[in-house]
Amino acid sequence: MKKILSVNAGSSSLKFKIFAMPAETVIASGKFERIGIEHPLVEIKYGDGQKFSEEAKVKNHSEAVQILLDKLLDLKIIASYDEISGVGHRVVAGGEFFKESVVVDTNNERLIEKTFELAPLHNPANLMGIRAFKKALPHAVAVAVFDTAFHQTMPEENYLYAVPYKWYENYSVRRYGAHGTSHRYVASVAADMLGRPLKDLKLISCHLGAGASICAIKDGKSFNTSMGFTPLAGVTMATRSGDVDFSAVAYMMRKLKVKNVSQMVETLNHESGMLGISGKYSDSRDILEAAEAGDHRAYLANEIFERSVIDYIGQYTFEMGGVDGIIFTAGIGENSQETRESIVKKLAFLGINLDKVNNQTRGKNTFISTPDSKVKVMRIMTDEELLIARDTFNLAK
Ligand code: AMP
Repeated sequence: MKKILSVNAGSSSLKFKIFAMPAETVIASGKFERIGIEHPLVEIKYGDGQKFSEEAKVKNHSEAVQILLDKLLDLKIIASYDEISGVGHRVVAGGEFFKESVVVDTNNERLIEKTFELAPLHNPANLMGIRAFKKALPHAVAVAVFDTAFHQTMPEENYLYAVPYKWYENYSVRRYGAHGTSHRYVASVAADMLGRPLKDLKLISCHLGAGASICAIKDGKSFNTSMGFTPLAGVTMATRSGDVDFSAVAYMMRKLKVKNVSQMVETLNHESGMLGISGKYSDSRDILEAAEAGDHRAYLANEIFERSVIDYIGQYTFEMGGVDGIIFTAGIGENSQETRESIVKKLAFLGINLDKVNNQTRGKNTFISTPDSKVKVMRIMTDEELLIARDTFNLAK
């Protein structure tokens, strides 16, 4: 039995899961938070419901990784470091360098450094995590799994912006998309549920969480996706605007006498979306509750969010020349039966009927369209960590 660690390193945090492979069972999960800040905390869940948490002073990711591995030994989750044969890391942006998951050798480390500008908040932290684990576990294969890699199959007409072509030629400005690991995972589950080969299907995956993106999957490959050069574009999100006419931003810069465009990008990332419209809430549970209680702007925020999702479903249905299955996943997609019901009802003209009973079930993958529906709709629990572990296991072989 091989043990594979699946890691998501942020600038001050480190989340992980340990899988026994090839059985794909989770043997432990946890996180290290506030690394390099006051009161760093390590938390580990393991066994049958056991939990460990402790404040552990660490200055950086290297120290955090060392403490984490020692705790895994103390708690007898692993008997020795050698049991861990691979560590898979989530990396947010892979630019055009990475079309699939890779073993991180020094050359790939250099290429990841070149992508820092594409995800300045995430990629440096991701690489810090990779280096910390490589130092602590030199025998384990280090693998990078990129959020953007799945979308590298998009055709040119879907990834190019209609801006001066030199922007792409000289500076690689294009649509990269995001959530690729999630879209890839749920698409494979959908194919299993539909009992058909993925390569024969036209799917639309709706990853609806605090960040949200829609992906058209044709012939088993990403064909188009709603996020763009960065994860700011596409559908309305918790605090991100989604698509906006850039002239409106330039106009507001003049009105507000803002000199620095980065300040506007901050506003579009953190003060917009459902928060911007409602003025109060970014969490869809709060939005739905307030809308129910008669708050018009909360109602409007939800309507605009749902409308933007439907816009993309419509666009992708036409671009692919049809659709066999629509997938709802991530925080809102998996948990909000109201949002699923509302969106599915608006898609009735596609020959979709909602299965109200199935739509209320929780915690498992299920069809939420009735068996006679022309297009099948599925609620699927995403599992990016599992896909990272699978890729790592396969590359470590
Ligand atoms: P994620 O980014 O995938 O973790 O999704 C987080 C978001 O999912 C939260 O901000 C909520 O808006 C949403 N969410 C989680 N649980 C529910 C629920 N039961 N009903 C509606 N929305 C939910």
